[in-house]
Amino acid sequence: MSQVIIQLLPGKRLTLAAELLDLLTEEYDPHVELFDHFVQFLQDIEEGKVGPERRDILIRLILLQFVLLHEVGLRPRLSTCANCKRAFASDGREIYFSVSANGLICRDCEMSFPDKIRLSPKAAQCLADIKQFAQASEATLDEIEQVLIHHFTHILGRPPKMAEYVQRA
Ligand SMILES: [Zn+2]
Repeated sequence: MSQVIIQLLPGKRLTLAAELLDLLTEEYDPHVELFDHFVQFLQDIEEGKVGPERRDILIRLILLQFVLLHEVGLRPRLSTCANCKRAFASDGREIYFSVSANGLICRDCEMSFPDKIRLSPKAAQCLADIKQFAQASEATLDEIEQVLIHHFTHILGRPPKMAEYVQRA
């Protein structure tokens, strides 16, 4: 089924989503919610409910990647510091993402996580509160997509095959 989806998908970002979906789920895994979400995404594109703006597709794909992480039990901790569990300041300043911590970490903990990536305040605010995606700029969404590719690279042990194309797109 995934081969068929890859051939039918219009964009490279969609190919990335299909690749991740394929790599992280077993052939007969009953990830019903995930596949429903993905099929709905494809239908929305076909019916013109998503896009054609790049920003719309980015938002949907980022959300799809979070659903995917959630479904396979690898959902990152984003609401509080993944290490000390303390709440973040609402201005989003000095927040980092760490693949080894599997989530956002605060400035008091970042020293313990050499793999951390410092986030812009806007990207950090979006990740900490998913509702903010609706207002996010394209630059913020691009930043979050890069963080997710980095995260999936760590989970898979190698970059997703399509990552280099997406990063150039
Ligand atoms: Zn902390």
